[in-house]
Amino acid sequence: MTSQVGEGPRLPNPLATGRCVCDAVRYRLDAPPLFTHACHCLDCQKKTGTASATTTIVLRDDLVITHGSTRPTAASLARMRAAEAKIGR
Ligand SMILES: [Zn+2]
Repeated sequence: MTSQVGEGPRLPNPLATGRCVCDAVRYRLDAPPLFTHACHCLDCQKKTGTASATTTIVLRDDLVITHGSTRPTAASLARMRAAEAKIGR
């Protein structure tokens, strides 16, 4: 297979789709992420309950919310505060 100057490999469209654990929010990613990293700081260990938190950074315009909203609701804020109280934050 040959390619022209300036052409990159063909990527699937969308590049990826996903959802939160409770399926309230779904998204699609239309371009490759900028980078992914794992943080092992104590805050990330407390938030995830694991040895590290993995975070992927994307450009805002490349991430499309396809279902639901990422804005917190009164119920989601109450759940977050209860979870933070449990871990002493
Ligand atoms: Zn961290």
